[in-house]
Amino acid sequence: MLSDRINVLIDDAIYLEHAWDPPRDYLGASIAGHACDRCVQYHHLVSIKQIPEVMPEPRTRRIFERGHFLEACAKKWLADAGFVFYPTPAEVSDFDGKFKGHVDGVIFDFKGGNCPIPLPCLWEHKGLGAKGWKAIIKDGLKNYSSTYWGQIHSYMQHLELPNCLYTITNGDSLELHHDLYSFDPTEADAVRAKVSRVLTATDMGELLPRISQDPAFYLCAWCQFRKECWK
Ligand code: SF4
Repeated sequence: MLSDRINVLIDDAIYLEHAWDPPRDYLGASIAGHACDRCVQYHHLVSIKQIPEVMPEPRTRRIFERGHFLEACAKKWLADAGFVFYPTPAEVSDFDGKFKGHVDGVIFDFKGGNCPIPLPCLWEHKGLGAKGWKAIIKDGLKNYSSTYWGQIHSYMQHLELPNCLYTITNGDSLELHHDLYSFDPTEADAVRAKVSRVLTATDMGELLPRISQDPAFYLCAWCQFRKECWK
């Protein structure tokens, strides 16, 4: 089929574009809140080149690109509405640079009259399909993803920001939704403790426990390290 032939060309180009991307040389704040300690440790092992990186499929790369595109759009829409961002998004770093993260933004002013949120505050964004977007609105971010929840608490802790404005964009309908989350030091400390556990276990040559003894468990079914973990 014509469509399949064109898509093969597109996928090949995406593979080529990223074939020589070096893996991150640090454990990212965007993963440290993951519920499975071993998964977080595998990310760290990739960053120190002890196991190979699992290259994302071209379709997954396109989903990442959609996320970046929607984030840029949402940030512009907020700026147009009067929210003022620091020009350079902050980087956080801990454990001698073995742990790092790059925030989506920090809002420090509002030019549109009465500001609806307390400032300054962290701003984070996720572009999601309709199903995930609705689930976050219904269940809240904490219940939807410990990874996303841990990420914002880690950022708020390092930047000493008391609140986070969390914007989600529905990639299907382009509806926007915003929630304001307050900093919870217990959550941030739990993420930091997990990073410490991962680094210590790795230094001692130990592998942290799996989150489940069933490879069909939903987190394992989606895990990029599933093969490595259950080999
Ligand atoms: S496959 Fe499951 S237990 Fe193994 S690292 Fe991934 S989430 Fe953790």
